[in-house]
Amino acid sequence: MARAKRERPSLMDAEGTMAVMQIPGHDHQKPREVTLEEIRAVLGDCQLCPLGQTRTNLVFGVGNPHARVMFIGEGPGRNEDLQGEPFVGAAGQKLNSLLGLAGLRREDIYIANVIKCRPPSNRNPQPDEITACSPFLREQIRSIWPDVIVCLGNFATQFVLRTEMGVTKLRGQLYQTGHFTVMPTFHPAATIYHSDWLPLLENDMRMLGQWLADHPVQE
Ligand code: SF4
Repeated sequence: MARAKRERPSLMDAEGTMAVMQIPGHDHQKPREVTLEEIRAVLGDCQLCPLGQTRTNLVFGVGNPHARVMFIGEGPGRNEDLQGEPFVGAAGQKLNSLLGLAGLRREDIYIANVIKCRPPSNRNPQPDEITACSPFLREQIRSIWPDVIVCLGNFATQFVLRTEMGVTKLRGQLYQTGHFTVMPTFHPAATIYHSDWLPLLENDMRMLGQWLADHPVQE
């Protein structure tokens, strides 16, 4: 018997709308209606996928709840799992040093991952795990409602842009998906092993800074 083709988890459906998760006290919430604390409360001690059994800490996200720029990575690594915060350790230091190229500081941005719990031995997240976890990320995005989403690496890029193409081909330009301007680029951790990607990531961050300068906040 032929198996049904499984839908790839993504930010938007084919019609360009974002699925809505049931949040207590809200009926089909609008952008910026639900707080990050409410979403975190729904997550609780999540065991919706097997990663709940192997994590040390659930890594929800951190940063400015009203950020204009939201960064999305792949999933927690070892340090993040131990500390319960995304982008600590070497990848976090690398990201901090890159933010200045876009005129940003760490306190300006919000950072979250596609999945909230560390895959054992830092293996890639499985499609079922992304499917289970992605409603929480969608609600974080809806809560913050940033102007720009920066996708760090393939998993975030493919989730947000609803594509199977890799970041190597997609980076270097901006995309529009619904309300969001999207910038796919390399994950800072990847540049630790691929030093030739670092200047490309730096160029992307300068492009982000130029976009922000060209699109000042409307009061
Ligand atoms: S990865 Fe996401 S869905 Fe899986 S247990 Fe952790 S929070 Fe829940």
